[in-house]
Amino acid sequence: MPYVFGFAEGDKDKKELLGGKGANLAEMTRLDLPVPPGFTISTHACRAFRDSHELPVGLLDEVDEHLQRLEREMGRRLGDAENPLLVSVRSGAKYSMPGMMESVLNIGLNDESVIGLALRTGDERFAWDSYRRLVQMFGRTVLELPPDRFEQTIDAVKLHRGVTNDLDLTVDDLRHLVDAFTATIKEYTGYAFPQEPREQLRLAVIAVFKSWDGDRAKLYRRQERIPDDLGTAVNVQSMVFGNLGTDSGTGVAFTRDPATGQTGSYGDYLPNAQGEDVVAGIRNTLPLADLASIDPSSYRELVHIMGVLERHFRDMCDIEFTVERGRLWMLQTRIGKRTAEAAFRIAVQLADEGLIDMDEALERVTGAQLARLMFPHFDSAGADVPLVHGVGASPGAAVGRAVFDSKRAAVRAVAGDAVILVRRETNPDDLGGMIAAQGVLTSRGGKTSHAAVVARGMGKPCVVGVEQLDVDVVQRRFTTADGISVNEGDLVSIDGSTGAVYIGAVPVVSSPVVRYFDGEVSDTGSDQLIHAVDRLMAHADKRRRLGVKANADIREDAARARRFGAEGIGLARTEHMFLGERKEHVVRLVLAPDETARQVVYDDLLPLQRADFAGLLEPMDGQSVTIRLLDPPLHEFLPDVTELSVRVALEDARGRTSTDHHRLLEAVRRMHEANPMMGLRGVRLGLVLPGLYALQVRALAEATADRIAAGGDPYPEIMVPLVATVTELERVRGEAEQVIAEVSAARGVSLEIPIGTMIELPRAALTAGEIAQAADFFSFGTNDLTQTTWGFSRDDAEGAFFTNYLEARIFGVSPFESIDEDGVGRLVAMASQTGRDAKPELSLGVCGEHGGDPASIHFFHRLGLDYVSCSPFRVPVARLEAGRAALSVEGSDSR
Ligand code: ADP
Ligand code: MG
Ligand code: MG
Repeated sequence: MPYVFGFAEGDKDKKELLGGKGANLAEMTRLDLPVPPGFTISTHACRAFRDSHELPVGLLDEVDEHLQRLEREMGRRLGDAENPLLVSVRSGAKYSMPGMMESVLNIGLNDESVIGLALRTGDERFAWDSYRRLVQMFGRTVLELPPDRFEQTIDAVKLHRGVTNDLDLTVDDLRHLVDAFTATIKEYTGYAFPQEPREQLRLAVIAVFKSWDGDRAKLYRRQERIPDDLGTAVNVQSMVFGNLGTDSGTGVAFTRDPATGQTGSYGDYLPNAQGEDVVAGIRNTLPLADLASIDPSSYRELVHIMGVLERHFRDMCDIEFTVERGRLWMLQTRIGKRTAEAAFRIAVQLADEGLIDMDEALERVTGAQLARLMFPHFDSAGADVPLVHGVGASPGAAVGRAVFDSKRAAVRAVAGDAVILVRRETNPDDLGGMIAAQGVLTSRGGKTSHAAVVARGMGKPCVVGVEQLDVDVVQRRFTTADGISVNEGDLVSIDGSTGAVYIGAVPVVSSPVVRYFDGEVSDTGSDQLIHAVDRLMAHADKRRRLGVKANADIREDAARARRFGAEGIGLARTEHMFLGERKEHVVRLVLAPDETARQVVYDDLLPLQRADFAGLLEPMDGQSVTIRLLDPPLHEFLPDVTELSVRVALEDARGRTSTDHHRLLEAVRRMHEANPMMGLRGVRLGLVLPGLYALQVRALAEATADRIAAGGDPYPEIMVPLVATVTELERVRGEAEQVIAEVSAARGVSLEIPIGTMIELPRAALTAGEIAQAADFFSFGTNDLTQTTWGFSRDDAEGAFFTNYLEARIFGVSPFESIDEDGVGRLVAMASQTGRDAKPELSLGVCGEHGGDPASIHFFHRLGLDYVSCSPFRVPVARLEAGRAALSVEGSDSR
């Protein structure tokens, strides 16, 4: 297979081979759009380079063949002293990666061809400016010289000449700059700037390949979970020039607003400029709409092409273009990155426009985006007048301490501070700081600047282009036009939707999407976001096969979960029912000398527990409520041993000892466990402490009878925690059935309360076939199952060494966040299978954190479980992802 492909040979589906940029340049070429001709060196060549550390044999010959073809097509030759061909060298991997090498433009210029370029264009200044840019870009990106050196030289020349604008530099100034830059290169590298164009090209290609393994690229891949072995492609493309005067220019555009999803084209344009200038935020750009008056015909053509691209890609596209002396050229397109709000709105718009169906619309949004839409916003009533306003580039509210460089931002974030990264503009070196920050604030740049694009990708609030701010990174402060200063460490709040910047911490309020789920606002069609969420949720509910329940322990949570669409409670923990004031009952229970004394305590607890359960059954009328019997070890409800020892010692010293305190201290010492997680808890406690589980079952049965008597429709279930062997479950079951029968008889109602177990120990999973005989349902407690399968104590491991493990790539994501499919997941699969083999009607669910995690939900769907249960706030996310899981083809890419 060849290493090099002409643009006419590729298409949009060859991203793996040609990278995203190359594949789409090829696609646009095939669509007959005006794309400057060129060719792509495949990712395959990059992988070969990574293996052998040299360019693969034959690659340069292939490049040369394609170059000659390009020269013939363009009627110009690389390095020609009369009519030179210039090319750009552009990196481009399968996934767009801001961490990689920047492009090098104007390759092919040297001391001779610069004269040819001046002749051909009739613009000597332009030719020397292009040469100056090449030497500078080549020095910075290919030879990796410190960029400041070049900037300083430019500043010195400007100062000397008394001008501030690059455009005021003369031919002589630029010539001088080229000399100075080449001298700098010689000084740093020991080599002269290569005059031979093919050598320039060769070095640039190698530099792109190497940048794949640069630190920034690696960091970005880790963050985005992109595999390390894909490699990057290199695009070589003939140059077009936006800096050939005022009838030229360059711009970026989106076919819809990437921040809100609003329809209508949208972007920035910079007259008389070369590509890089727009994104670098060096000069302030014009809104795209201005092009309509500057160059109506190019504008019309651009708008037409945007329509073509949207219909072709059936999605919002982002575009780079250049106008050279009134002629439009397309330089790049891809499916545009967008905010969560825009993703929802655009998906439904495209479905309404008939470009996609609702299934595809559902595939285009994610649970993570929905979660982002549920984040709080600033409370405008509680907010002071903003200090300044910039451009809202990535929505959301962020509050944190101002920090002015990325390294310090990362350090402070690790130390636990919420930080806002404040920069004049960002570049790929700021990636670490942006990851660490709650939000990003820059004084320059537009919605398409580096800061804006990267922050949107990360879902971080970002405000850019706050021109009134003077950001001084050396003094670590920014100052407004009115002279108000904010120093490093001061609290600031930024609103990425409105662009407002505040001093201090602004209070936040819930999002409209949450109010919609809460039933406070409904879809009237006027709010496009609510409309989109409503449509997509309805479609997800229609498609999904997995049920979604909630983990809720109190009435308010149960009620909210139901409003959010939960179909019952999959896990109601009962431990909180023994906390607070009720701790005293536990103390009495522990101190009770005999069964009669214990029964007195149970009698006191019964009405309290009954009321607790009534509070859960009522809002969940008609739906199941799964009550988990007490799980934690009893000593968790007792006073701390050290505190108690001190108290008793003090009392002793004063000669006023309470015998109760002495006995309690003794009991606490006796009950101390070296490893409580594996100690006397769960079903073990229920079996060792007679009457405890019977009390809970009685309270539930009576609450159920009450509810029925009140005309309700309760569906309680009893769940036994930490079962390892069927015998444990059989014992508890026997006792529970007896209590239920007693209550039934006493109240004259027939009570049917299913009894099931959690599967959260490997032994339970391994013996699921036997356990199923005594269980009406299994609920996988994936938190404990993960702890016990890996032998990790979550609280200890996460804080201690998980960062090392993640960095060392021992796992890509914490197994507590996303189910470990190969280990823990296999136990779940096995237990489901053997459980159902033993008892086909066995119901199967999940009640660990993983029940609300998108990737895990897809896994549970594939296993054929009946439902997931998660915290109320994640219920909408789980509904959406369960719907998406029902659509997605095995192995499809969920990134
Ligand atoms: P990035 O991936 O960082 O956007 P690009 O390869 O797209 O890098 O190039 C950076 C800038 O240079 C873009 O604005 C692009 O449009 C411009 N550019 C790249 N190649 C050419 C070319 N052949 N002619 C004119 N401008 C170009
Ligand atoms: Mg680009
Ligand atoms: Mg557990």
